[in-house]
Amino acid sequence: MPKRSASIRPAAARSAAARSAATRSARARPAAARKASPAPASARPVAWREHLERLRDCRLCPQVQPPSVVGAVPGASIYLVGQAPGPREVKLGRPFAWTAGRTMFGWFASLGVDEAMFRSRVYMAAVISCFPGRLPGKTGDRRPSRQEVETCRVHRETELELLRPALVLPVGRMAIELFMPCPSLEAVVGRQFRGAPNGHACDVIPLPHPSGLSRWIQTPQGKTSIRQALALIGAHPAWQRTFPEAEPAALD
Ligand code: SF4
Repeated sequence: MPKRSASIRPAAARSAAARSAATRSARARPAAARKASPAPASARPVAWREHLERLRDCRLCPQVQPPSVVGAVPGASIYLVGQAPGPREVKLGRPFAWTAGRTMFGWFASLGVDEAMFRSRVYMAAVISCFPGRLPGKTGDRRPSRQEVETCRVHRETELELLRPALVLPVGRMAIELFMPCPSLEAVVGRQFRGAPNGHACDVIPLPHPSGLSRWIQTPQGKTSIRQALALIGAHPAWQRTFPEAEPAALD
């Protein structure tokens, strides 16, 4: 993926950023993508099939436990990126299938979008697509290594190139750091940024990881920031196009 600090701007800075957006986008775009013309629409089903087969068969990381897990929705306008699947996600074959997912889908339910609607219309990826394994001697999952994140980057780049999403939702610090520096959750959650991953402009609205291990999401600051982030998501044109029938509930 492109250098994050060069491609992400807070929404408030958009007008200044727009003057040099074309130059930056071209600079940030990977060399391979700069050389190639966009795939014609008729070629995309084949490209998607090839990508999903490569992802399913990928065994590049020796320490992870495949198969990969992805919530593939080719053509989606919204691209959500989590951290990594856990054992339950592998068993059930879908991202955010357990307790963290319940919390996250509860957030989106407040925007009038239930889990089934979300899964059928939003592409759900992860920083790495395979289960990293348990922490040795502990019950928690191992954090993906830098090398694994770097290795799996090729799959994220392919997805971003094929999708060209209008809205990216990175969930958790590791996912946020794929797109921008994250000095703290307070600094980024509740704000909207303009980015150009793979050279294609989009908005980025970070969310914290919904894991029960995260104390921040239970703090008053965390709850306020999550409400602000959800308000931004619900008001985003890509969200409204994706879920035209959604009727937001009052956020507590
Ligand atoms: S984590 Fe990503 S790069 Fe590594 S084996 Fe799984 S799909 Fe391949």
